[in-house]
Amino acid sequence: MTHWTDIRAHARRLHSELSRMALSPSDSGLPTRLSAERLLECAADYTGIPRIPVPANDPLLYGTLATLANGCIWYNADVESWFGLYCQAHEYAHHWLHHGQTHCTRDDIEGSASEDTSPIGESRIIGYGPHELREREANVFAREFLLPSDAEVLSCEQGSDRCVRNHIEFRNYRKFGAESDITFDEKQ
Ligand SMILES: [Zn+2]
Repeated sequence: MTHWTDIRAHARRLHSELSRMALSPSDSGLPTRLSAERLLECAADYTGIPRIPVPANDPLLYGTLATLANGCIWYNADVESWFGLYCQAHEYAHHWLHHGQTHCTRDDIEGSASEDTSPIGESRIIGYGPHELREREANVFAREFLLPSDAEVLSCEQGSDRCVRNHIEFRNYRKFGAESDITFDEKQ
């Protein structure tokens, strides 16, 4: 496996593990998927790292979008909700991949948004500085964690409206479209 394939596989394993923990026994076997919000709640329980929303200008953010510091994830609560969820997943990715404190700017979190839509060879790692590589790793992990590339197959009922909707949302999310809906709320 390449470096990036490895990271995505790691993210999918955690997505599956948390999903299994969150679903009741009666849910087993049904095609289902946790909302991004619920998945992050589970991540908080699993890691013991709470998520704390703060205003954009809060000094705890040090002028960044999100930080992982002092055993907590602090994130800018003034961004669009879907992007806030993504920022939180990005911080959990740092926890799982890098095990240290981080302060992530918009450039860090958005800078490699299209990373996993293009073919990436192992050689591409060499060209990155340590900071950029970590941020790219966190972004690749966060996207795969929130929406595993195999999830639409699991939750897709062939020919149903739900199936079509999932495909559309999946595509929008991958493109980072501002209108994308990554919560997959069952009520919708
Ligand atoms: Zn980061």
